[in-house]
Amino acid sequence: MSTAKSTQRPGLRPKISKNYIATACHSQSPGKLYATIAFVRDAVACDRPKPHNRPVAETVWQQRIRRAETLAAQHPYAGQILAFYIQTARFQQDLYHRLERASAGKTHFSPSGPPELPELLASFPAFLALVEKQAPARMAQVAHDLSQSHSSSWTDLLNNFWSAIGQAPADPSEFLAMAFLQPYAEFVRSRVPLQLKGYTHSLCPFCSRSPALGVLRQLGDGARRNLLCGFCLCEWEFRRIVCPGCDEKDHAKLPVYTAEEFPYIRVECCDTCHTYLKSIDLSKNGLADPLVDEIASVPLDLWAQERGYAKLRPNLLGM
Ligand SMILES: [Zn+2]
Ligand SMILES: [Zn+2]
Repeated sequence: MSTAKSTQRPGLRPKISKNYIATACHSQSPGKLYATIAFVRDAVACDRPKPHNRPVAETVWQQRIRRAETLAAQHPYAGQILAFYIQTARFQQDLYHRLERASAGKTHFSPSGPPELPELLASFPAFLALVEKQAPARMAQVAHDLSQSHSSSWTDLLNNFWSAIGQAPADPSEFLAMAFLQPYAEFVRSRVPLQLKGYTHSLCPFCSRSPALGVLRQLGDGARRNLLCGFCLCEWEFRRIVCPGCDEKDHAKLPVYTAEEFPYIRVECCDTCHTYLKSIDLSKNGLADPLVDEIASVPLDLWAQERGYAKLRPNLLGM
């Protein structure tokens, strides 16, 4: 994001910690997204009720939105990306609730696909309109171009992203597909019983994507590291001193950096595969929301990338 480049580089200092063992990774795909369902232009998505007008209990999205507002006030350099994130989160929340309503009481084994799929696909034009209006210029242009293209290209884009588990998104249209499909991936994942006990791999146990970030949670006197999928938001335990990119276990090759500005965020690097991932230490800051704080700490990404590390999996906004 261009707004972040004018920010100050945080003062980072290396920390090294101890070592564990990991094994090779393999898991299941969530399957295909039913390319046979056609898009319905200008359909029901535009006249849905506004969630902030309803007296509902605070959702995870509302928690994230509140956290993003707090961080935007604390870190003005991240204001633009957090403002876009807030708009995206509001859309995602609304979409998730509509998917729940569309699937309520219906079978998931219809020949035409899951019962919520028409609602999902009909929502895409509204999402394109939101991105065109609210996103940074490059992504807004992609959304505009997509809105002018045939709906079959939308189906292809969404299907390809849904199925492309091995590659990190690189193109603005892929980040757009990721942001749109993320609540659906979470919706589908929440309906699939997952056996996480004993799962030791670094790829998401549901959708097989690389983790977008780490989360450290209090465990006894220390903290346990979990990995978090940025797509379906599955969280699973993973050993602390193993690179999730290449299984490197030599602690001397796994430097960890922190910055004064974000003392609860670790930049966990690997000098073997030259990737990094940020971990949010909730044992140090219980107010943090991993997804949102990861986005707001963009100076850490700039710092790592200037030193030749590539992010294991970019976040929702392409950072
Ligand atoms: Zn996943
Ligand atoms: Zn590595």
